[in-house]
Amino acid sequence: MTQAKLIDGNAFSAGLRDEITARVHEIRDGHRITPGLAVVLVGEDPASQVYVRNKNKRAAECGMTSFEHILPADTPERHLLTLIEGLNDDPMVHGILVQLPLPRHIDSQKVIEAIRPDKDVDGFHPWNVGKLAAGGVGLIPCTPLGSMMMLRDHLGSLAGMKAIVVGRSNIVGKPMAHLLIRENCTVTVAHSQTRDLPGEVRAADIVIAAVGKPEMIKGDWIKPGATVIDVGINRVAAEGGKTRLVGDVDFAGAVQVAGAITPVPGGVGPMTIACLLRNTLTAAARLHRLDIPE
Ligand code: NDP
Repeated sequence: MTQAKLIDGNAFSAGLRDEITARVHEIRDGHRITPGLAVVLVGEDPASQVYVRNKNKRAAECGMTSFEHILPADTPERHLLTLIEGLNDDPMVHGILVQLPLPRHIDSQKVIEAIRPDKDVDGFHPWNVGKLAAGGVGLIPCTPLGSMMMLRDHLGSLAGMKAIVVGRSNIVGKPMAHLLIRENCTVTVAHSQTRDLPGEVRAADIVIAAVGKPEMIKGDWIKPGATVIDVGINRVAAEGGKTRLVGDVDFAGAVQVAGAITPVPGGVGPMTIACLLRNTLTAAARLHRLDIPE
């Protein structure tokens, strides 16, 4: 049997970052505005530190200004909220991202709601959630946005297709489902209480896996020719005491059946950061009422 086409997130995101860089230079030269991204990290979680460093590095590579705020793990909630108020008012800052998860003593929802919706480049503020659900113009969460860009690039129109989103988190599953509805798909949202998950997946032309369970979705669940977007990032034990990253889909099985599939790593992951930069550029353009293509 022929193998599925690989949807290359590294190549796609590199192209997207080139486009963003060109636009950043345009508005810097034409309007003397440099898009600015502020990233806030509370605590010393090593994985979060790597994410934050990468986000700032990529922002700088695109010609944006990046502001890094690293706070100790015991930072009082009030201090974090005061920092966010300052960033909300700072004209150099167009995008604000608070790295999640936050330490337990901080109410994440309160922090998300403190961010100005028009600077909320993660798209998690209830205002942006509402805009996505109701069909308005807001900022769209980065991972679903990147997944949708790859789907549209590969499939063109998605109208009338059956899509399943496995996972219903606020950061991936639910916004992904709303984006697919916008694209006129018929959407099933599956979760831990879903009966006959294999049967539900088998009916889908598009499978979005966002579960957080290594290789849970098997190759023989996939409809032949379906497009599979694997959002999962799971670190598992490998030979020689090492570890490796795998997705939520059993790639070796699914690649034999699917029409196209994203690898892990090198699929959705790089698109997430590229879309964060895209959202920062979009936020800067809207805040300054610049007429640039989105
Ligand atoms: P969450 O843990 O918040 O959500 C997981 C979802 O999967 C829940 O809705 C849960 O259902 C559902 N689920 C759990 N077990 C099953 C099961 N056996 N059958 C069906 N559904 C199940 O995870 P996230 O959405 O935050 O992340 C999902 C994955 O995506 C993770 O691997 C994460 O690392 C990755 N990720 C990758 C990103 C990227 O840039 N590529 C960005 C963000 C996340 P229920 O609601 O019923 O509990």
